[in-house]
Amino acid sequence: MEKTKCLIIGSGPAGFTAAIYAARADLSPIMYEGLQPGGQLTTTTEVDNFPGYPDGIDGPTMMEDLKKQASRFGTDVRWGMITEVDTTNRPFRVKADDGKEIEAETIIIATGATAKYLGLESEERFKGGGVSACATCDGFFYKGKDVAVIGGGDTAAEEATYLANMCNKVYLVHRRDELRASKAMQKRVFNTPNIEVLWNHEVKEIVGVEEGFNKALNGVILVNNKTNEENKIDVEGYFVALGHTPNTELFNDKLNMDETGYLITGPDSTATSIPGVFAAGDVQDKIFRQAITAAGTGCMAALESERFLGEQI
Ligand code: NDP
Repeated sequence: MEKTKCLIIGSGPAGFTAAIYAARADLSPIMYEGLQPGGQLTTTTEVDNFPGYPDGIDGPTMMEDLKKQASRFGTDVRWGMITEVDTTNRPFRVKADDGKEIEAETIIIATGATAKYLGLESEERFKGGGVSACATCDGFFYKGKDVAVIGGGDTAAEEATYLANMCNKVYLVHRRDELRASKAMQKRVFNTPNIEVLWNHEVKEIVGVEEGFNKALNGVILVNNKTNEENKIDVEGYFVALGHTPNTELFNDKLNMDETGYLITGPDSTATSIPGVFAAGDVQDKIFRQAITAAGTGCMAALESERFLGEQI
């Protein structure tokens, strides 16, 4: 049985920042990278809003840099998944898909969240060519253009108003005749002149030009679910805002979660309901979901792990 002072699960900005801090504090962390090494940023192209990169950086390169930095201080980064976690006693016992069993004195969960897509084949094809799940990350590329936001919750309302500041026109496409978003967010949507809400509309297909690896979306075909009428909106950007699913299945019935599955952490803290288990990044944050906020909570989780271990002696 292997032993570690700190096991980090997940390898997005939260996981790697936790690893950098934990390794520098001599906790010799072991990190399991998970299903999508590098996390959600590896699916974006340009990251322009992470401080310290004046010319921007592409997501996969940034995650490679974070991995190198975490490894430089001795993080044992492993390609693989944690498949079982027993949090009943400390040290916690975990199993990985490489067959290893590990005893961990602290665990930092940084497994992130997964954006929901409609699941259309054309949506998949135009990812990186006009289809995005993050307006704050990619909106800048659509300055002065027409775009569509799909969804009717707070995320959709927030993304639509964010995009309306820089885009020519934003179509908010929603499948019902009322928004799920909070009244305050709805008001902002209705008061923004360049947002047009298309009620009772569903997406049928995304269309565009494809030449080899170069793809450029130029329209979305919609169906009015009351009349069955089809119409095409001419847009260059398509932003899904259908919500996210936190990657917390492994911790069902083990840690306190909210009704949507996000891990609940203490105020001003990354502590979960089990002492010694910390959560950082999108797995515990459904509001901000930014690389920089995830990195911030990753730092907090490592500092809290170190403090927790110090208190056990
Ligand atoms: P929600 O689950 O609240 O909303 C998802 C939206 O997508 C709904 O309008 C839903 O439609 C629509 N949708 C889902 N699946 C489909 C589908 N297959 N086809 C068409 N439409 C679909 O997710 P959010 O990300 O908006 O919000 C999640 C949580 O985070 C909420 O509690 C929210 O309040 C919170 N949040 C808070 C923010 C803030 O305070 N600033 C910002 C962002 C989120 P329908 O309504 O018909 O079900």
